[in-house]
This record gives sequence, structure tokens and C-alpha cells, in this order.
Amino acid sequence: MNAATDAVTDALRDLHSRFAGIDDGELADYIPQLALVDPEAFGLALISMDGHRYGAGDAGVPFTIQSVSKPFVYALALSVLGIDEVSRWVNAEPSGEAFNAISLELGTGRPDNPMVNAGAILTTALIPDTPGAPRFGRILDCLSRFAGRMLDVDEQVYFSEVVAGDRNRALAYLIRSTGPLPVDPVAAVETYFRQCSVRVTAMDLAAMAATLANGGVNPLTGDTVVTEPVAVRVLAVMATCGMYDASGDWLLRVGLPAKSGVSGGLIAAGPARFGLASYSPLLDPTGTSVRGHRAIGALSERLGLHLMHNP
Ligand code: GLN
Repeated sequence: MNAATDAVTDALRDLHSRFAGIDDGELADYIPQLALVDPEAFGLALISMDGHRYGAGDAGVPFTIQSVSKPFVYALALSVLGIDEVSRWVNAEPSGEAFNAISLELGTGRPDNPMVNAGAILTTALIPDTPGAPRFGRILDCLSRFAGRMLDVDEQVYFSEVVAGDRNRALAYLIRSTGPLPVDPVAAVETYFRQCSVRVTAMDLAAMAATLANGGVNPLTGDTVVTEPVAVRVLAVMATCGMYDASGDWLLRVGLPAKSGVSGGLIAAGPARFGLASYSPLLDPTGTSVRGHRAIGALSERLGLHLMHNP
């Protein structure tokens, strides 16, 4: 271990013990299965560009990826269709609204961005579906390559999402009513639910974030998952839209492209430096992990990670 390695390990352990006692926030009970998790679970993970893994607490505990899947499926859509075609369908402007807002862009009828549910459902629907390569198979393969290992689906969470999914179905029908949604709304939402139910750990999420930070090359496997221009675009949209209606405040204070999910996962990426992730399922009113937000914010301050910082 060199001094830098020690500093990262110390920082993660310190922050873990500093924030483990915070029990503010609520479990996401609108998806019944998500209310059954251990509210105390708390893990932090960081992966550097040379593939070094650092962890503290429950970095290996599985949970469902939820909205943290959105940037990676957006990356897949950009890879397959290119930025111009994807932008015809979904814009890249911060919405200033909640993740599940029933809202589309005035005039064009496009979802505001691919990080809110409306945009994510559309992005999922853009992924080609062919007999040899079904849509969800492509998505699972892509998420797995970002993580550097084969991921699977938590079927119980998936069924819970299907049962509780009327708002997302309503969004899909609304999108179809304003323009030609490229697939049937029910099929689009089912695939989106399945994508949200993919099981990961904080260490997996750190690898996924590190792959974006590393220009699309997974630092653990050496696999080129997406091209560098695609990784750059995804990080840009995460920076402006990844934390929904709290994106501006997050960029102001923490200064890193990030994405949160309602199961309690949170990723942040330091371009050309690291991928960072946390897991703690107690959420604030925007649907972001309370401990994760605090811990990643503190780590950014402690290690000087803010992107606008002049080292
Ligand atoms: N599956 C969840 C939903 O669509 C994902 C939302 C989230 O993680 N913010 O409501």
C-alpha cells in the first residue's frame, strides 16, 4: 500500500463510521418490496483508473439498481443510434422536477432528459429488439459489461414494480400520445421495470461509474464498453440532470457527475480519476440516499474532488 491508497481507505472508513449513525430518511415504500430491506445497510466503494478497489462497510451487499441504470442504458442508446437520433426522442435539459414527474417538454413533447423516468422509459424503448438480440438481453449485457461481471434480476422486486407501476405506465401512454413512441407502452415499461430490478452491489456501481470516468473502458476487465465520446456525453447529462430537482445544488456543493436511485444506490464519477458509489436505503424527499449524499459530499470536500476545483 502506498500513501495515496492509505488515504483513500482511511477516508472511506472514516466517512463510513461518521455517517453510519444517521438514521434520517425513509425507505421507498411505493415499491412494496423496497420497504423490506435492512435500513441500516451502508456501504461505500471507490475504484481507481488502475483498477484498485476500495471499500468500507456493506460494499458487497446486493440491492436493485433502480434509476442508477438510467445513464448506462442512455449510453447503450447513444452507442447504437448516435447522439442526433437519440436527441430527436429525448432532450438533455434539467427538468427541475421530481424523477417521476408527469411532464414532457412544451412544444416538442420529448421527455426533458434521460435521467427522469419519462426519458428513461423512452431511452429503454429505443434499444433495438431483434430475435437474436432481445432488448432486455442487450440491456443486461451492457450493464454487466459496465460492472465487469454477469448481473441478474431480482424477480421479486420486478413483480413488485409491475404491481406498483401505474404512474410509469401513465407516463409511457402520455409519451405515445404526444409522438410516436417506438414500441408498445406496456412493453416499454415492462423492460424498464426489469432494468430497474437488476441486482448490484456498491462495488459493482463503483466499477460502472469508473468505466464512465475511464472513457468507456472498464478498469477491472479492460473491456471497451462504450466509446469515449459516449462516456463524455453521459457524464455531462449526469452532471446537469442526474440528481433530478437537486442537480444544481449537488453540482454546486459536491461538484461531480452523479446519479441516484430509490433503492439507495448513488454513483459519482471523477473523470480520468475514479468511480465512487454508496448504498444506504434511507432516502430524502428527492429520492436520494441521505447517508450516501452526506458521505460522497464529505469525501469530495476531504479529497478536493470538486470538478471546478483548481488543485
Ligand atoms: N423503478 C423506479 C421507478 O420507476 C426507479 C425510480 C428511481 O430510482 N428514482 O419509480
